[in-house]
Amino acid sequence: MADRARDPHSPAPPPGADPIAFPFAPPAPDASAVEVAPGVLWLRMPMPMQLDHINVYLLDDGDGWFIVDTGLHTADCKARWETVAASRLAGRPLKGLICTHFHYDHAGLASWLMERFGIPLWMTYGEYFTMRALGERLPDPPPDGLVDFHRRAGMPAERIARMLAGLRRDPFMPPQPQSFRRLRAGDRMHIGGRAWQIIVGEGHSPEHACLYCADDAILIAGDQLLPRITSNVLVSSVEPEGNPLQLWFDSLDRLERLAPHTLVLPSHERVFRGLRPRVAELRAHHRQQFALLAAALAGRQRLSAFEAMQVLFSRPLSPAEDMMALGETVAHLSWLRYAGEIVRVLDEDGVYRFAATG
Ligand SMILES: [Zn+2]
Repeated sequence: MADRARDPHSPAPPPGADPIAFPFAPPAPDASAVEVAPGVLWLRMPMPMQLDHINVYLLDDGDGWFIVDTGLHTADCKARWETVAASRLAGRPLKGLICTHFHYDHAGLASWLMERFGIPLWMTYGEYFTMRALGERLPDPPPDGLVDFHRRAGMPAERIARMLAGLRRDPFMPPQPQSFRRLRAGDRMHIGGRAWQIIVGEGHSPEHACLYCADDAILIAGDQLLPRITSNVLVSSVEPEGNPLQLWFDSLDRLERLAPHTLVLPSHERVFRGLRPRVAELRAHHRQQFALLAAALAGRQRLSAFEAMQVLFSRPLSPAEDMMALGETVAHLSWLRYAGEIVRVLDEDGVYRFAATG
């Protein structure tokens, strides 16, 4: 479940804010590495999709190296890791793997890397067990809850069928790692003379680990803070009454408190400085989505989540995008609902419809 380039035109930063700066040219996705701080290497793994890469990082620990995130479970990425191991590690072994979160561009090769290089996996409890729980192929017939969630959202039956067929064709389902070492919020990992504090983010995934070195002001941000695209924050059938956008905003609060000159190492696009202006842009983006929905619901118009999705996403969507776009739309509707700005009614046709309050 990668992030999609949904909003290439991020809103402009507020007047007077520092601009976002990109101090390094990115590495090619061919096992080349760029040293972004002493002992911190930035590499890219290829992805055969619209978002065509994921950033991974190598942390020098003196007698060996830690990996942060893996790339997809593809032959291509395995070959890149073989090249990295043979040519980028100065003859020293890999020591451990840290996965920021369970999405398969980040953890898809965890099982393979652990076995191939004999290394342990560090992950939070929430991410590890979400990965284990969601790592199975979609059963046929699909679970009632999954179909009901999309029916109540007003998605037509043939579109639900198309979406589920798309999920079944997913080629990237990885084998599951059988054990892990637990990371918790506030833990410190000592790697290469640096103390990396674990800062947990929520909303994009259940217990996403960021690694922050306060002494050197470096944040390995995963998908919690990307420089241009926005991370998916969605409601799914697993937790249909959740309010992940509130969790996401709370997580942005935590990141905003870090040193303003922090060098941010994100999982997609380029390493950057400008943490606070970027957080401001992300908040502005969601405010814009709220405003679009509020405008569509003004004048006593009632909309299903599926109809509201066409307000936020006007372009044609692939089956996989359908699930994410609907989930994101429900996330925005749920936030507005919990904020008391809109109400939700279950109509006689079994579809939830949303309306402005009052
Ligand atoms: Zn992700």
